[in-house]
Amino acid sequence: MTHTAPLLVTGGAGFIGSNFVLRHLRDAAASGVVTLDALTYAGNPHNLDSLMGDTRHTLVHGDILDRELVASLLQKHRPRAIVHFAAESHVDRSILGPGAFLRTNIDGTFALLECAREYFATLTGEEREGFRFLHVSTDEVYGTLTPDAPAFHEDTPFAPNSPYAASKAASDHLVRAWTHTYGLPTLITNCSNNYGPYQFPEKLIPLVINNALAGKPLPVYGDGMQVRDWLFVEDHCSAIETVLANGRLGETYNVGGNNQQTNISVVKTICALLDEFKPKGTSYADQITYVTDRPGHDRRYAIDARKIQRELNWFPAQDFVNGLRLTVRWYLDNQPWVENVTSGAYREWMDTNYSARTEGA
Ligand code: NAD
Repeated sequence: MTHTAPLLVTGGAGFIGSNFVLRHLRDAAASGVVTLDALTYAGNPHNLDSLMGDTRHTLVHGDILDRELVASLLQKHRPRAIVHFAAESHVDRSILGPGAFLRTNIDGTFALLECAREYFATLTGEEREGFRFLHVSTDEVYGTLTPDAPAFHEDTPFAPNSPYAASKAASDHLVRAWTHTYGLPTLITNCSNNYGPYQFPEKLIPLVINNALAGKPLPVYGDGMQVRDWLFVEDHCSAIETVLANGRLGETYNVGGNNQQTNISVVKTICALLDEFKPKGTSYADQITYVTDRPGHDRRYAIDARKIQRELNWFPAQDFVNGLRLTVRWYLDNQPWVENVTSGAYREWMDTNYSARTEGA
């Protein structure tokens, strides 16, 4: 495989995927990227606008379930790796409508694995030696922890509690089986909660920023004492690059920030950062509103990331409050982006204009 062969990135117009593609191509010497994205409500081609004119990047509007399309992309672009982000990713949506999660996360991963297997079978020599299928997954597959339980490690048994987590756990199992049964060279990363630019404002951190600015209530589930480990998205992307370059085939790597926070403390920190732009004596924290807890809400996640640190020398670079400050600043500076993704205008634009910019396989 030539070192200049591109990456095929699924879900590269979503939150983490677009951060990954932008970060990868920031290096002038980096190989190209073919982004394959179905552009669901969570995928936004504008996230990749700064790459317009960069001949190393190709955006393909398509579904990972479309095997003909995926097979033709693999034959045409001959990627050295598939980095698989594409997923339905929002727990609340999975509770309301699990079908889409089973379709994309399970059937979609299955379809992609089959295409990868067929493609891998055609490779020889260095191309075959270098090929990787990297599956991006979540710590939610491990279920929930009691307050004093040790953090999730790579051998923690799966115990998913939401339809989203169950669908991701199933996809992780499929990836593992494709290595053990068919010899596909795979890698899996299980990461904690990400935050940063380009996150769709249905997730906690951008939701709180946007509701605060709009003068709306800041909804906090239950007592707000649910604990999550938070990682700045750039750090997750650097972990994925590290695993892709040096991870041991067939292995799983947990990725986390060693940064456990209760939801209520995250919300209060965001309010304090936003208050820097508010008249003295008033606080966005006044908008905090406790709402009925999500059914089956996991109480605590914590990730033991010592394996990736020890084996691959990966460590997060961003401190939490700094990362949150950068994130708040990004949302303040990118209000038109927020308006686009949250208004019907964005969807209308997509339906009427996007097909003209779609590249065929
Ligand atoms: P996201 O919802 O922002 O993006 C998902 C992307 O996948 C979107 O661009 C969407 O259009 C695309 N997509 C959905 N269905 C598709 C299909 N059938 N074919 C092609 N593209 C499709 O999600 P995210 O937060 O960026 O998460 C990316 C990946 O990382 C997911 O696999 C998720 O499980 C995992 N992950 C997320 C987090 C987190 O905190 N957000 C943490 C750990 C792991």
